[in-house]
Amino acid sequence: MPVIRSDLPALVLDSIDYGESDKIVVFFCQDVGRISALARGAHRSKKRFVNKLEIFTFVQISYSKSSAGSLFMLNEAELVNSFITLRTDLTSYRVASIIREYMLLTTRETSDDDLLFQLALWALHSLNVGIDQKQTLALFMIKLFDLLGYRPDFSVCQGCGARPADGQEVLFNVQAGTITCRNCSAGHEGGRRLAAGTAKMIRAVQEQPVSRLNRFKPSGAVLEQILDCAHRYSRYLFQRDIHSWKGFDGQTNRY
Ligand SMILES: [Zn+2]
Repeated sequence: MPVIRSDLPALVLDSIDYGESDKIVVFFCQDVGRISALARGAHRSKKRFVNKLEIFTFVQISYSKSSAGSLFMLNEAELVNSFITLRTDLTSYRVASIIREYMLLTTRETSDDDLLFQLALWALHSLNVGIDQKQTLALFMIKLFDLLGYRPDFSVCQGCGARPADGQEVLFNVQAGTITCRNCSAGHEGGRRLAAGTAKMIRAVQEQPVSRLNRFKPSGAVLEQILDCAHRYSRYLFQRDIHSWKGFDGQTNRY
């Protein structure tokens, strides 16, 4: 039986010329997850898919698939939001590129993950409307680990099992994804020291759904520490770096 979907919300993650006139477009779709679809004539015909298949674009797509092993064929794409700021502001572009790389890395072909789609959409939308880029990235990272099932445990010290008191510094153990309180941290090498407010902020964000992320505004040292921990933790988890993060590091304060 052919599979046909219409008006499916989707984000363009990648777009590659294919042959003389076609494109293979990688979409991250609501309900459906990641798919690669052949867009016939997208490269040559300027009318049908013009400006709709650029990276980061939010579209509604219609596709068909004739049998299990065949390619998805893109029939139509309707522009919802081109997220123009991501193309005109360098910092927003860089952060959107980091988000895109994580989406390509962590999503699989046709695995339905609606919350991950909502998170990616929230992040690109926030960047587009000018919400602080580092803030957006920090919140995105905390929820990404959550939704992938890799939530680091900021609730209790892994040494004594106690919840660190408010106002107490903790160490984040990157490889274990756990924290250690000051009393237990003697002899702990390689942990990242976190201000009291950082662990508290991360715990608070972990407890809220994507729809309520806008209420959090991490800043200063707390923001830098969240980004530092998230970057290191993701490098350990995925055993690879995210290329786009390099360009972002270079233009911001060292962390
Ligand atoms: Zn302890």
